[in-house]
Amino acid sequence: MQRAVVLGGSFAGLLAARVLSDFADEVVIVEPDALDTGSTGPGAPHRQQLHALLAMGHFQLERWFPGIIAELAEQGARVGRGQAVQFYVDGRLRPAIDELEMLGASRPFIESAVRRRTQRLPNVRFAAGRGQGLLVRGGRVRGVRYVPDGQETATDLDADLVADAMGRSSRLSTWLEQEGWPVPPLERMRVDLGYATASFDRGAELPETVIAHSAPGPESSYQPTICEPGALAAVEGGRWSVVLAGYADYRPSRDPQEFLVRMRRCVAPLREVAEHCALQSEVVPFHFRESQRRRFGGMSRFPGGLVVLGDAMASVNPVYGQGLTLAALQASALASHLRSGAAPHDPARGYFRRAAAFVDAAWDVSATADLAQPHVTGPYPPGYPVLRWIGDRIVWASLRDAEVNRAFMDVVQMRKPPRALTRPRVLLQAARALITR
Ligand SMILES: Cc1cc2nc3c(=O)[nH]c(=O)nc-3n(C[C@H](O)[C@H](O)[C@H](O)COP(=O)(O)OP(=O)(O)OC[C@H]3O[C@@H](n4cnc5c(N)ncnc54)[C@H](O)[C@@H]3O)c2cc1C
Repeated sequence: MQRAVVLGGSFAGLLAARVLSDFADEVVIVEPDALDTGSTGPGAPHRQQLHALLAMGHFQLERWFPGIIAELAEQGARVGRGQAVQFYVDGRLRPAIDELEMLGASRPFIESAVRRRTQRLPNVRFAAGRGQGLLVRGGRVRGVRYVPDGQETATDLDADLVADAMGRSSRLSTWLEQEGWPVPPLERMRVDLGYATASFDRGAELPETVIAHSAPGPESSYQPTICEPGALAAVEGGRWSVVLAGYADYRPSRDPQEFLVRMRRCVAPLREVAEHCALQSEVVPFHFRESQRRRFGGMSRFPGGLVVLGDAMASVNPVYGQGLTLAALQASALASHLRSGAAPHDPARGYFRRAAAFVDAAWDVSATADLAQPHVTGPYPPGYPVLRWIGDRIVWASLRDAEVNRAFMDVVQMRKPPRALTRPRVLLQAARALITR
């Protein structure tokens, strides 16, 4: 390829550019937000919320940018391993997994390291501007139309391949329709989630904790009755970043007093931070209304020269922390597709098939859990009551048995697909754990 154009220079766009830099003479990233200035960018306001990078995301990031985790750690991020990474369900601590490693860092901090590394690639350049449409001729996308920053008129930019990484509000469907192409079916699940993130000064308290995460489970029927849902991470700049979550009428507000009261009803590490550390930021709330995914795989007609990554393809309930990892896996799927010898000018069916496997896994994990909330009303997958019954038993068993816990966490951390939990060996071990305890 002579030129690939990536629309959107956030997490998915940067990873797509990294992958495409191996296959194209030149990669151009078109992004309207001035992210270099340290701003969190109006195009993705959720950047300010605490983001967890799952173990698979951690692995993928290191795969595409070797040494980046050590670089982040040198600059103040913390890397937690084993008991420093704590997952609680209904207030009960899961068994620690020795080799499980997670990063304590804010999303802007991780993303700016990824951006710096991408900027250093000799064949990648950034174009400040906003994508406005596709150039489509002869059954394939041949470039994009975009409005450069500070200008009023649009410019055309030719490309052999265009990657849409414009996030969940991507206008790709409208652009396709304008060009006479079918629109990918959009699936939605209303979850009505509220998030709020705040920072605290970090001192000598909790020296062994990097990540602590608290979720409701089967004992509380997935309601915040035993313990508040939330998480904290020891991040760069000597801070704790704390997030609280709640659904429907129980969404956290921006009131700092309410935030502290709720932290005191959470697991020990969050209580400790509420008691001993000074709040050093505003409480920033965020309302996430629905999970959504666009199904590109089954479309009978789709132009060549076009791929879609990140939230533009699927944006799932963030409480499971899957979005960044999903974007990284999609970038790897794009690499496999191009490495297989697929022509970039053809419809990228191989890419969409590979990417859909990851999206389906993330969607299954989040949708099955979300449907346990009374205000979430579907769509239900076939056999949902049975899936839920088995799922609850596996969660219970995972809290008591190290082997089941490891299998469960492999799925949570996106190292294995959800079907790994239905292997006879795991089911047998779960049954044994429930019977013997
Ligand atoms: C509250 C909340 C908490 C989350 N927590 C986690 C977490 O803990 N772990 C995790 O892995 N994920 C989490 N996520 C999900 C994660 O934030 C997303 O999956 C991730 O941002 C997707 O990256 P992206 O690059 O696809 O999209 P975005 O980050 O949304 O970026 C889209 C980019 O496209 C640009 N853009 C938009 N329009 C145009 C245009 N016309 N032309 C050019 N560029 C354009 C925007 O300026 C923006 O920079 C969370 C999400 C939310 C909402």
